[in-house]
Amino acid sequence: MNDLTLIAATGAELPAPFKGRHLIDGAWLGSADGATFDRISPAHGVLVSRSAKGGEAETLAAIAAARAAFDKGDWAFSSGKDRAAILNRVADLIDRERERIARIEVLESGKPIAQARGEIEGAADIWRYAAALARMIHGDSANSLGADMLGLVLKEPIGVAAMITPWNFPFLIVSQKLPFALAAGCTAVVKPSEMTPSTTVILGELLQEAGLPAGVCNIVLGYGDPVGAIMSSHPDVDMVSFTGSTGVGKRIVAAAAGTLKKVSLELGGKNPQVIFPDADLDAAADAITFGIYFNAGECCNSGSRIIVHEDVAEALTARIAELSRKVPFGDPLSDATQVGAIISDDHLAKIDGYVKGAQAAGAKVVIGGGVLAVPAMEAGRFYQPTVVSGVTPDMAIAREEVFGPVLSVLTFRTEAEAIQLANDASFGLSAGVWSRDVHTCLNFARRVRAGTVWTNTWMDGFAELPFGGVKESGLGRELGRFGIEEYLELKTVQMRVARGRNNWVRG
Ligand code: NAD
Repeated sequence: MNDLTLIAATGAELPAPFKGRHLIDGAWLGSADGATFDRISPAHGVLVSRSAKGGEAETLAAIAAARAAFDKGDWAFSSGKDRAAILNRVADLIDRERERIARIEVLESGKPIAQARGEIEGAADIWRYAAALARMIHGDSANSLGADMLGLVLKEPIGVAAMITPWNFPFLIVSQKLPFALAAGCTAVVKPSEMTPSTTVILGELLQEAGLPAGVCNIVLGYGDPVGAIMSSHPDVDMVSFTGSTGVGKRIVAAAAGTLKKVSLELGGKNPQVIFPDADLDAAADAITFGIYFNAGECCNSGSRIIVHEDVAEALTARIAELSRKVPFGDPLSDATQVGAIISDDHLAKIDGYVKGAQAAGAKVVIGGGVLAVPAMEAGRFYQPTVVSGVTPDMAIAREEVFGPVLSVLTFRTEAEAIQLANDASFGLSAGVWSRDVHTCLNFARRVRAGTVWTNTWMDGFAELPFGGVKESGLGRELGRFGIEEYLELKTVQMRVARGRNNWVRG
């Protein structure tokens, strides 16, 4: 594997460890028992952050603060104009702090600096988009109920929204939830992943600087148990918005059942791309390479499963392998790096296990298939760019989320078979099709079971367009104008007007 493009350690000076505390009712607090947890950089092996480790006391205090702030009504009944002004200020502050946020995100997650900058820039854009929605909350009216009746349908904030986020896009994902909840007039309790807590803490600082009132957004740092579990089951929480693995998503649904709170879930994917023989194969190969290596494949939208017509499978696979050698893997602090480190040792072993399992089941490793040694980065965790062909639909590598830089190649003969293979998954997050024939693309788009379909492209994303999954990829939608609806509840008001009377009692 010495024909890969590797970026050696930059030797850049690393900042002193970030100290994270909880944000509860406007105050920055350590944990009552003094407990903390550490994050070691997956690329550099150094201490990046030491955070207060939340327990029951901090979680209950944060929920109580959010409940009190909501019930007080100041935020929920503030004008959309005023809420939008704060959200726009947050966006400006995110822009101002982009470099600082991006560097901490790199150190905690292992992703390349260029992509972290892009993520923070994209997050600011979402805050601005949500600010616009704060001024467009319209309900409905019914003026055809008879001479003396008028119906109003009001949209109201749902209440206290709990948000639990993962480690792969920590700043982007909290920004797909929080500004929409705030725009709707909700209050919030946020728990970032224990792997990547610090950028959410910085966001908390920016919320305060922008003028968000105390208690409207509270942040508790810590683990799924107990923090996330209490947030998911507590009666004072009206809704849980979760992004993470399907397994934990199911646990959250079970925990929320006791109080029947609303649950919104953005979960995993095993996203297929179907490549027809008439496709622009060079464009497809480039997008497939991007789709599998972006964020080291630690991406819910990873294009981890390609289904390619057997006439072009060999040529396309060879082209992807050739491009794989050119993608720069290495120190995420280098501007040149496009693929950084894997989040943890456990996860590195899990990725390798899928590849070795596929090999044992008869698949062929075309390129890669092992841990990657990056020059002068001995403390880092890296995995080689890996392409596995001869994958059959029954193999674990074809069905489960590998969440690493590992592409599975399956083949098909007929269009019907391609669609059947694409739908042969418990997930339904996103899917793609490559063909020059618009009818082939549209037929696929209509028949594939997925929340998002890309035709002749992969993984574009816009604040304007809703995102979410079907089947075991989730419930509900984020982004777009539907993104705010998740945090709104309907209230029906029936009014007797024009001095009418019902006269139920006669005489
Ligand atoms: P994870 O499910 O392990 O953890 C996510 C969050 O849940 C973390 O904050 C964790 O502390 C918390 N948590 C863990 N146990 C909990 C419990 N019992 N109750 C409440 N909270 C609990 O996921 P991860 O490993 O951080 O992230 C990777 C997963 O996220 C992948 O499956 C990926 O596909 C998915 N993801 C989905 C999307 C999407 O939009 N669909 C986006 C990004 C990531």
